[in-house]
This record gives sequence, structure tokens and C-alpha cells, in this order.
Amino acid sequence: MKRIVIKVGSHVLTENGTIAHDRLNALVELISDLHEAQMEVILVSSGAVAAGYTQLELDRNELANKQALAAIGQPYLLKIYQTRFAHHAILSAQVLLSADDFDSRKRTAHARRALERLLENGVVPIVNENDVVATEELVFGDNDRLSAHAAHYFGADLLVILSDIDAYYDKDPHRHEDAKIRKVVNALSTEELEEECSAHGAFATGGIVTKLQAADFLMRRGGRMFLASGFELDDIRSYLLDGVHKGGTLFIAR
Ligand code: ADP
Repeated sequence: MKRIVIKVGSHVLTENGTIAHDRLNALVELISDLHEAQMEVILVSSGAVAAGYTQLELDRNELANKQALAAIGQPYLLKIYQTRFAHHAILSAQVLLSADDFDSRKRTAHARRALERLLENGVVPIVNENDVVATEELVFGDNDRLSAHAAHYFGADLLVILSDIDAYYDKDPHRHEDAKIRKVVNALSTEELEEECSAHGAFATGGIVTKLQAADFLMRRGGRMFLASGFELDDIRSYLLDGVHKGGTLFIAR
């Protein structure tokens, strides 16, 4: 595996209204280890609204407030990332995109050229949706779709989604005690892709369905996605660094 996109949800990056520094540090350490193993990593990070809320408590139910919080939180979050990456002697960069950018071949090519230049210089691009103008992430999806587009159009071998859930189950494990992990998924049914979204937590907007849609988008294009816990990075570490699939779900078309 050469190039991977890692997407991390807001729920992983925040805890009780503040930044979950331990988890953010563990993520940066993982990316540093992947760099050591000669992999290129593009990080798609949610959490701008949550980071903004740590600075100014505006009512997050209103879209304009969410946009304002994202504007406050994005540079704040990036500063934390840049400081952490610097501890590992890694430069990181901010790349703000909107989902529409991938609708245009010209804009996709522009973005890719910049991305390639960053990656070939060992920089970790930190991608987020430009929330002040593109409100899709704030309303729906929490960057799941953006990360799937980034993985496909930027030529990644794998999309990793680090979530508050450690895998895809045959039913919602927060509501059903007997839910069973699905370790490998080769195809998704229309029902699975349309199920009512059940986001968990105040900042999360996606739920499992937007993750399944991201997986479906990639599988239809010959790509792969791995869903694993962002709270506990053992499973993703072992999958990426040792090639051992212990926990988490791999989505791969047969
Ligand atoms: P994130 O903030 O990491 O993007 P979300 O909270 O939006 O993640 O989505 C993950 C949540 O989706 C889980 O915590 C879980 O409650 C819910 N969920 C619903 N159905 C399933 C399922 N079949 N397998 C796993 N999680 C599910």
C-alpha cells in the first residue's frame, strides 16, 4: 500500500466539548509511523465546528452558527495538528475543498497537482470541507463523502474511516446487544445504503449510512475502504503496519 486517505470523525477528536488531545496525538503518531513505513497519508479531518465550540459557545443547532464555529475552529484545529506533527518532524498543510470541486475535472486536476506536490515533499495534507461556503458536511455526511472522493480522485489505494464505532455490524450495536461484526463486505444492498441515518453524538452528522455510501462509491470504482475505531488504534495499526486484519471492517468488491 502506497497512498492512503484517513478520515477521522468529530466524535473521535472531541470529548465533553473539548479537543480529545490524547486521541489526536495517537492519530498523529500513527501517521508518523505510516510515513516511516514509506506510505503517503492524506488526512481528512472533521472537528472544526467542535473545535470552534471550545472557543465560543454558539448554539450549534443553527447552520449560520455552525459555519461561524467552523471558521473559528478550523485554524485552531490546524494549529494543534501542526504543532503535533512538528514533534515528529513532519510538516502538515491545510487543504480546503468543497464536494463540488470534484464535479469539475479542471478543479480536480488543480487540487491533485497541489496534493501531489505536498506528498512528494513528505507533507501531510489535512483536508476539510470549506464550511463557510460549502455546508454539506455541516448538514449531512461529516466528511464521509468528501473522503471517498478524495481517495478516488487523488489515487489512494485505500480509504480508512476512523469512527466512534469499531466496525460495521449486522445491526446497530448501540441498540442491539446481539449485533455481530461484519469483517469483510463485498457488496452493499440498496436497503443498507438508504437506511435512516442514525448519527451518534452532538457533533456527528453522518451515522453509518454515509460511511456505507462512501464504501459503495469506492467499491464501484475498484477501490477499498476500511472502517475501524478511532478511539483505539490497535486494529488499524495492525492492518496497515502488519497486514493483519484483527478487527474493523474491510469493504472490497469481489
Ligand atoms: P463518526 O462521528 O465517527 O463519523 P457516527 O457517530 O456518525 O460516526 O456514526 C457511527 C454510528 O453509527 C455508530 O456509533 C452506531 O451507533 C451507528 N450505527 C448504526 N447502524 C450501525 C451498524 N450496522 N454498524 C455500526 N454502527 C452503526
